[in-house]
Amino acid sequence: MTPMTLPGHPHFSYRGNELFAEDMRASELAQAHGTPLFVYSKAAMLSALAAYQRGFAGRHAQICYAMKANSSLGVLQVFARAGCGFDIVSGGELERVLAAGGEARKVIFSGVGKTRAEMRQALTAGIGCFNVESEAELDVLSEVASSMQLRAPVSIRVNPNVDPKTHPYISTGLKDNKFGVAHEDALRVYRHAASLKGLEVVGIDCHIGSQITDTTPYLDAMDRVLDLVAAIEAAGIALAHIDFGGGLGINYNNETPPEADVLWQQLLAKLDARGYGDKKLMIEPGRSLVGNAGICLTEVLYLKPGEQKNFCIVDAAMNDLPRPAMYQAFHAIVPLTQAAAGAVTTTYEVVGPVCESGDWIGHDRALAVAAGEQLAVMSAGAYCMSMSSNYNTRGRAAEVLVDGQTAHLIRARETAADTFRGEALLP
Ligand SMILES: *Cc1c(COP(=O)(O)O)cnc(C)c1O
Repeated sequence: MTPMTLPGHPHFSYRGNELFAEDMRASELAQAHGTPLFVYSKAAMLSALAAYQRGFAGRHAQICYAMKANSSLGVLQVFARAGCGFDIVSGGELERVLAAGGEARKVIFSGVGKTRAEMRQALTAGIGCFNVESEAELDVLSEVASSMQLRAPVSIRVNPNVDPKTHPYISTGLKDNKFGVAHEDALRVYRHAASLKGLEVVGIDCHIGSQITDTTPYLDAMDRVLDLVAAIEAAGIALAHIDFGGGLGINYNNETPPEADVLWQQLLAKLDARGYGDKKLMIEPGRSLVGNAGICLTEVLYLKPGEQKNFCIVDAAMNDLPRPAMYQAFHAIVPLTQAAAGAVTTTYEVVGPVCESGDWIGHDRALAVAAGEQLAVMSAGAYCMSMSSNYNTRGRAAEVLVDGQTAHLIRARETAADTFRGEALLP
């Protein structure tokens, strides 16, 4: 029996008519742990990472997993054990890294709104670099570090003003975004940083957006950043590393992003051609490491035929899978058990139980399903669990990480009591 691999999902495949995650039958996982259930493939994460590692072979490079894509401890452990650092955006994420066995010195701290408390926490832990996003933040960080008799290692996030050609909500490198320092201001801001006693300038960084499926925006951004590196170093400020951010897209719906090693072959060729091939490189991939390493299993609760639309109501909802509601995003939806060849399909709006019209998972999907059967929402490894909420007092889903023939429960399903822990009744 040859497994039928799903496009873009080499570690999720049909054997016969049954969906498998690596060597585990998805329906058995649903049976054992209930639905909605996130199922991750460790091999898929490591093979996505391997593409970057191949791309950087022989280079001085550090891959920092942008953990906001999926910050579950078991997922972080996989990357920490594989030698990754982490790109964090809050003090809470730093605590998660440390709890998962990650090394503080391989942590870089991004984000436009770091608090003084978060700065102190990160300095105490001894993180590798603060990616600073404004002049005001430089001043505060210098003050905080000085008060601790420390110098904070900093890189300034510059805004190369290139269009990543992605959804406006996940485009971050354009002039009117809240992120980074404008290209024109970068040199002045670097001079200011170099003058501050509590700071040590160590690098430069950019991050132009997310779900980028084209090589050109990266090549353009690299040119813009290297122009700045030249100007900053000419001003006598040495930059030990260049951080090119994350943003590489994945195949959700027949997109064809470049493979990480192919992309980096081109970027490294440019870096070499411009004479910066010996610099330490950092990258911050998130989605491309985990997005297609996860699926969400869900059960069909009701079929509700209508005059205009037929609804397939499932037990996963926008609180579990927020991307369709937030970004009109597409997730493929496939059955755990394929219907017999020639089975009649119906076109459904696949929706969750949450009381919002925005609670949809997929539009116009042709499915041959009955209540009680189960579906898999594909490409659910990134920006799903980490963005999930308890809206409608729905406990967060359970998560299992599959490693060959073994499934590890890495997060228990939340109970209602879990969701109101920390709340208090009035006297
Ligand atoms: C979100 C984010 C990333 C990761 O983006 P992906 O598209 O998931 O690769 C990297 N760097 C920064 C600063 C981010 O905010």
